[in-house]
Amino acid sequence: MKKVVVGAAILDGDGRLLAAQRAEPPELAGGWELPGGKVDPGEDDHTALVRECLEELGVVVAAGTQVGGDWPLTGDYVLRVWLARIIEGEPEAKEHLELRWLTADELFDVAWLPADLPIVRAVQGHLGGI
Ligand code: C5P
Repeated sequence: MKKVVVGAAILDGDGRLLAAQRAEPPELAGGWELPGGKVDPGEDDHTALVRECLEELGVVVAAGTQVGGDWPLTGDYVLRVWLARIIEGEPEAKEHLELRWLTADELFDVAWLPADLPIVRAVQGHLGGI
């Protein structure tokens, strides 16, 4: 079975995208990602997405359209990403070094992890509409 990591492309009402800077592991620390994480055994993707956003950011999200399909990660992992909106709470960096809301013009101002970069390019086409 494929091992799945889920990610949230969280947009706000102004069409900004939430980027999160990884704190660990050392080889990824400082890189920017879409928040998310591994799907637990027996858990469905959507439940994992909501759980990870709550754990990492302290917010409840509602997921919308999926962005592409299975994006490759290292090993047997794939990354699945959904557009999402915050329906409860204000995001806080509970596990990340920093969070940033990026406008369309700022989308590539951060050092995205290599796996996330093509996904952010795909998200670019969705800014302003979830
Ligand atoms: O966040 P977590 O450590 O559970 O993610 C598992 C792996 O998935 C990370 O080590 C990282 O390589 C990758 N990942 C990624 N982009 C994301 C989320 C996770 O490349 N947005």
